[in-house]
Amino acid sequence: MTEKQHITDSFDRVHDYLRISLTERCNLRCFYCMPEEGIELSEKSHVLSHEEVIYLAKEFVALGVNKIRLTGGEPLVKKNVEKIIRELADLPIQLSITTNGILLDKYLPLLKECGVKKLNISLDTLDREKFNYLTRRDYFDRVMANIYQSLLHGFEVKINAVLMTGVNESEVVDFIEFTRNNPVSFRFIEFMPFDGNQWDTSKVVTFDHIFDQIGRHYQQDQVIKLEDKKHDTTKNYKIKGYQGSFGIISTVTNPFCDSCNRIRLTANGRIKNCLFSQTETDLLTPLRAGEDVKPIILQSVNHKAKARGGMEHNEDFYNKEINTKNRAMISIGG
Ligand code: SAM
Ligand code: SF4
Repeated sequence: MTEKQHITDSFDRVHDYLRISLTERCNLRCFYCMPEEGIELSEKSHVLSHEEVIYLAKEFVALGVNKIRLTGGEPLVKKNVEKIIRELADLPIQLSITTNGILLDKYLPLLKECGVKKLNISLDTLDREKFNYLTRRDYFDRVMANIYQSLLHGFEVKINAVLMTGVNESEVVDFIEFTRNNPVSFRFIEFMPFDGNQWDTSKVVTFDHIFDQIGRHYQQDQVIKLEDKKHDTTKNYKIKGYQGSFGIISTVTNPFCDSCNRIRLTANGRIKNCLFSQTETDLLTPLRAGEDVKPIILQSVNHKAKARGGMEHNEDFYNKEINTKNRAMISIGG
């Protein structure tokens, strides 16, 4: 019997979680994710086809990946997404998806049939006007309706909100109040720097700032710390008696690189061994040339930096000259 393979890096971190960005396209234009002028899309012929996504997913699974998350751009706008979901569901993995929720009503039955149990839905505000400003599109009602639909279908729902000073940081208590009667986990994500996304340290809403707001609204004994799972990037809490919970993801102020198990595959077939890596490994060309991609995957992860794509010190991470030498988030996938 052959020994089970693992993808490890030079810091002995085992990588068993793959995030596949299916497309660079999106039906929203969130300003924190993509520049106003849009991004230059990869040529169509340089984007992974549905067959190539499945082939590469199988190669990763053969190397020990047991969890795959579909992301984008907006994964549900990808041509053949139904086939992709169906075929990935046949692999021995936990399949999940991060979506802006706009098209979910169409795909909820399929996702359920394919054994997907958890949905991550992005929603940065509970205010329709602000949603239009943030996303540059008018889909608030649809996203809200689809969040409720997802709960009715029995999915475990996490809502991702990127918090930004002067934009939505004042909604923290409203988000938590949403968990009173809705069994969702609202997760507050620190605003991260990417190419062309108007990032600046002053716009990052930190853990302490969030807890200041919580402390002003709730009694200390109302706030319960929940247990965090291994590899969980979120610090989880709930308010006593509320149906849902909330969590804080502090990538900027308190990174969780030590336990990182993630590999990212972009829509144009490149491995990013870290969300913040400034280099990428092309899999598309060798794949189309009929080469074995497994050694290339192993080598790419082996070169992974210890923390935040090599920006180990906060001075590097906060330096705009360095921290934005990366793709726009829309073409990485989060
Ligand atoms: N379109 C899908 C969605 O919005 O859920 C999937 C792709 S989106 C790039 C994945 C996640 O990245 C979303 O939750 C989004 O909020 C998050 N994101 C985008 N830009 C970000 C930034 N600058 N800082 C932190 N999170 C960001
Ligand atoms: Fe699209 Fe998601 Fe980026 Fe918003 S965060 S522009 S929905 S990819």
